Amino acid sequence: LSFGEGLGEAQNVLIIGAGLCGSLLALRLAQRGFNVNVYEMRPDLRKVDISAGRSINLAFSDRGNKAMKLVGLEDKVKGLCIPMNGRMIHDTHGNTFQSNYSGREYEYINSISRGDLNALLLNEAEKHDKVNIQFNCKCKSVNFENTTALFKDYISKKEFIEDADVIIATDGAGSALRKSYYLGKKFLFSFSQAYLTHGYKELSILPQPNGDFKAYKNALHIWPRGSFMLIALPNLDGSFTVTLFLSYEEGQYNFNNLTTKERVLKFFQNEFPDALALMPNLLDDFFTNPTSPLGTIKCSPWHYKGNTLLMGDAAHAIVPFYGQGMNASFEDVVELDQVLDQGLKDWETIFKTYESNRKKDTDAIADLAIDNFHEMKGHVNQAIFQEKRKLEMALEKEFPNEYASKYSLVTFNEHIGYREAMLKGRAQDKAILNLLTDGLITSNDDLKLVLNRVKQETKSILDDDRIAGLN
Ligand code: FAD
Repeated sequence: LSFGEGLGEAQNVLIIGAGLCGSLLALRLAQRGFNVNVYEMRPDLRKVDISAGRSINLAFSDRGNKAMKLVGLEDKVKGLCIPMNGRMIHDTHGNTFQSNYSGREYEYINSISRGDLNALLLNEAEKHDKVNIQFNCKCKSVNFENTTALFKDYISKKEFIEDADVIIATDGAGSALRKSYYLGKKFLFSFSQAYLTHGYKELSILPQPNGDFKAYKNALHIWPRGSFMLIALPNLDGSFTVTLFLSYEEGQYNFNNLTTKERVLKFFQNEFPDALALMPNLLDDFFTNPTSPLGTIKCSPWHYKGNTLLMGDAAHAIVPFYGQGMNASFEDVVELDQVLDQGLKDWETIFKTYESNRKKDTDAIADLAIDNFHEMKGHVNQAIFQEKRKLEMALEKEFPNEYASKYSLVTFNEHIGYREAMLKGRAQDKAILNLLTDGLITSNDDLKLVLNRVKQETKSILDDDRIAGLN
């Protein structure tokens, strides 16, 4: 494997940020023969116990796994995963029911520790002589016209400038390169940032004294409550990381008015009594852990000529409700790799091709993630949604090669892009809901008939959308 005849010898790539995307990118570029220098603002998470800052664990699925296969890490990553076959939904009385993610048993998502996965990627990247990772170095700005970056070393307190043939910024939602594009005003740079009215706070369910899980291990637990929700994902040590998604200002209970122990307890007693019973540490967690905002960032272009490129959250931060931010960031690396395979002659063409292939898909997952925010906190509890879900499960089980729900298309079908998954999935959703509402299908009908009706209706919706110029 070579890094592309077109580019010539020993190209030096500077990567800003050694998070999930940056460490994977460093590994892949080293495998392709590039010289890679990575600068990370935080200390080495393998040596210092730093809080991840956000989501301790994440849902890892097929698109992310596609990237692990690319770099030969599928088996090692599997060892870090806890399969979650479905959502375990908890009502206010503590009743639960499981709604699987797919009717195909081999399709499930996984809970994985951000720290463990990042450490594995760093270890594997550092096995290559061509990779050099410096921690405690914060990028302050990027001169994208000269392809240089200004860093501050937090240990020596000194500033220094690095240059490279190309700079790729994988420095997350607050990207220094993106800021330099915006502030530089040297080209037409479009940028939008939209916050949700909701923020999140991480809490925990600790293991039982013997190390066992206090709740069912192989599910993503959800307590949907209409305008807010609680979720929990399992960790290898027997604990769960719990996340409360709640409005800052609206509703009877919100982050701004949950200011006393009594109020927090009352809120949990009313809304999440079964979770509260598993969380004797609730109040400590609640008042120790930060409340953080959630938002979507879209921008373009991602690259400046052939000098610099944004990837991962730096290019497209999304809200976490489809469990796809990391998966999309990993898929970015696969997509760039495919463009490098084309043997293009210069970086500008490589970056341009990559962005024109990729942006439509990251825009789509950004929108899908917002949709899922509403679905998870509300719809999963509604009868029609549950009936639709039941039918889709049955269709997936009965016709594994013919039917895939929107969730499956997004999460388990790594062969189509997010945009295609969105268009098809949305049309299918609309089709099933129309047919159910009009009484043209029911969950007791013959499944072949249901499949045909759904396919027909989906096709006519897609055709109408095409005529209206919507897809
Ligand atoms: P990051 O992980 O943010 O990494 C950026 C790195 O750059 C960090 O190491 C940072 O320290 C470093 N850095 C930042 N600025 C600088 C600088 N100026 N100089 C040098 N270094 C710098 N995704 C999923 O797929 N599944 C999930 O279930 C999921 N759940 C989530 C839950 C929550 C609450 C949140 C907030 C996100 C969730 N995500 C999930 C999204 C996921 O966390 C991100 O998409 C993913 O971390 C993006 O990786 P990244 O490497 O692009 O950015």
